[in-house]
Amino acid sequence: MITQISNFKFQTVIDYDVIVIGAGIGGLTTASLLAKRGFKVVVLEQSDHPGGYCSSLPQNGYLFDIGASLFWGFDEGGVFYSLFSELGMIDGMLKGDNIRKIDPGLQIVLPNHRIDLFSERSRFFEEIKREFPGDLIYLKNFYQEIDHIEEKLYEIGGTRHPFVYNGKNRAKINQIKKFFLNIYTLVNNNRFLENYLRGWDKGLELERFMDLQTMYFGQRSAADSPIPFLAIISGIPRRGIYYIGGGAQFIADEMEKSIRESKGEIIYKARVEEILTRKGGCVFGVRARHKDISIEIFSRTVISNTPTFNLMRTGISKIRYKRMIKNLQQGWVPFSILLGVDEKVIPEPMREHVLMMRDYKLPPYGDNLIFISVNPAWDKTRAPEGKRCITASILLPSDIMKSSNIKSVLKEKGKEMIQYLEQVIPFLSDHIECVIDVDPLTYQGFTMREDGKMGMIKGGANMYGFSGLSNISPSRQLFLVGDTTYPGHSAAATVKSGIRTADLITRRM
Ligand SMILES: Cc1cc2nc3c(=O)[nH]c(=O)nc-3n(C[C@H](O)[C@H](O)[C@H](O)COP(=O)(O)OP(=O)(O)OC[C@H]3O[C@@H](n4cnc5c(N)ncnc54)[C@H](O)[C@@H]3O)c2cc1C
Repeated sequence: MITQISNFKFQTVIDYDVIVIGAGIGGLTTASLLAKRGFKVVVLEQSDHPGGYCSSLPQNGYLFDIGASLFWGFDEGGVFYSLFSELGMIDGMLKGDNIRKIDPGLQIVLPNHRIDLFSERSRFFEEIKREFPGDLIYLKNFYQEIDHIEEKLYEIGGTRHPFVYNGKNRAKINQIKKFFLNIYTLVNNNRFLENYLRGWDKGLELERFMDLQTMYFGQRSAADSPIPFLAIISGIPRRGIYYIGGGAQFIADEMEKSIRESKGEIIYKARVEEILTRKGGCVFGVRARHKDISIEIFSRTVISNTPTFNLMRTGISKIRYKRMIKNLQQGWVPFSILLGVDEKVIPEPMREHVLMMRDYKLPPYGDNLIFISVNPAWDKTRAPEGKRCITASILLPSDIMKSSNIKSVLKEKGKEMIQYLEQVIPFLSDHIECVIDVDPLTYQGFTMREDGKMGMIKGGANMYGFSGLSNISPSRQLFLVGDTTYPGHSAAATVKSGIRTADLITRRM
């Protein structure tokens, strides 16, 4: 039905089992699973492509990842593995050339140390022996304990992923309850790392070594990271880090393909402006703007992949959602530079992913912590012949956006970052062919996140979704997915959130 209302057209579309707002990696996960399980699904995405922060931007012959570029969870039982297995795509994907395990998956660069995070602990300890000989024994004990916790988390979670269990076996449920009681104690004990570090020879340097990893994977310092979180993060290289040929976009495109194959629909350039609720908070659909048409789509189940910060703007205040928003740390805004360079300048061996800290005494964020990603020579999709693409990102405290001369502050940051990168790639500035600054406002345009903001549910047990608060909302019909609903702030954590929501809906409907 199309009717003319004032100066734009109005269309009403009825009859979907599920509406998903946003085709980020979270929305795509839930939509692809539900479509495969036989639900009639529609995804509404404001931009013209899938992926959100898991997208790649073609520019001047290069293909730059704008957000995620380091992936984990493709090992057997990992989240991406589980997702694509259920979608019936994993064998084909792993047989192809695009998804490659890289070892070491990540290199940590500190002012006076360089440590490769190999997947095997024995090789990793060789690195530690070289860089921190006085602390080797402490670190071996630390990793033994933390690996044990991590293994238990995965074991209890079943093969799908930690923290989510959807079986009905009583013995297993009792085991989980007992285990979660212990974990609850661990989650609320933030002194674990502090107690460990007290006796270490290079305490500050090692704390920063941990900070780099927890800040990158979860936007919080190591000392502030609950133990299960620290355990999962420390286990990432051990479980396997992957490089995606064709960029992050390849992953999003595969999910989109699966949705369409299962007869789901994706409508691009469709911005949801309101989640429709009845008196009492019951959700019954959405109102969206698609090009110049306002559309209303009805469904008893709505899934929001919009960052939780944005929910208030989509009319969600009507359903008492303020508490959740308050519990989000008003964290970080990303700033990246995308560089196309002559490959002569890339030193050998150059790792695909490097996390660098410049100064131990500066806080572990802002331009003191830089994530660098360089495409390997074999991935010909990313750059013209003889060239490579580099992305370098930092996370800035969101307050920076209040400064009156923000544009020039950010421009200066971009120039400084190139200088800092020379610590890892000497003479870089002489070999740059193209530079693109991606500031927080550009990120806002990509994803509709205010200033591109990345946030986190505050500490405590609920951030792990033990009580299920993170994916559900006060309305039975509104579910949440995405990195603001699940700890971890990585593509893998976001996929976990998407699987969890798909499982909840499948059980309820
Ligand atoms: C610079 C940077 C580097 C990163 N590096 C890594 C990395 O190396 N590894 C890793 O694992 N993770 C990384 N991440 C994090 C990871 O990319 C994100 O956590 C993840 O992609 C978030 O997915 P999402 O689905 O939660 O949200 P988003 O990607 O933000 O997706 C939300 C989608 O919803 C759409 N949308 C929003 N509002 C509306 C609306 N009202 N109507 C219609 N559509 C709407 C948006 O357009 C978007 O497509 C990085 C992030 C950044 C910013």
